[in-house]
Amino acid sequence: MKKLIELDAALSAIGEVPTYNDGMVFEALSHAQRDVELLPTVDAAPVRHGQWKRHYCEDDGLPDGWQCTACGEWYYFGENKPNYCPNCGARMDGKDGKDGDNETD
Ligand SMILES: [Zn+2]
Repeated sequence: MKKLIELDAALSAIGEVPTYNDGMVFEALSHAQRDVELLPTVDAAPVRHGQWKRHYCEDDGLPDGWQCTACGEWYYFGENKPNYCPNCGARMDGKDGKDGDNETD
């Protein structure tokens, strides 16, 4: 799997290039900065994680829906829940979900 880095973080790691030419350090930093800036970039957003939290009807105790733990939106999927929340796009792998009494499957 490819790993992405943030362009500004990479440039920050290189550090400030001195405004004056002091020899090999100036040349090395200038080349590193230029090479990083020429790398291909993609627009990326952080991956949200969540899980489906099952809810039960207060009157009869029967299942009555699923709630996304990332955005709080409710859905009535039955047992075939999607792997991603249709509202917020969270990946439903439970990585950022809360442990405890949530039913996930
Ligand atoms: Zn959601």
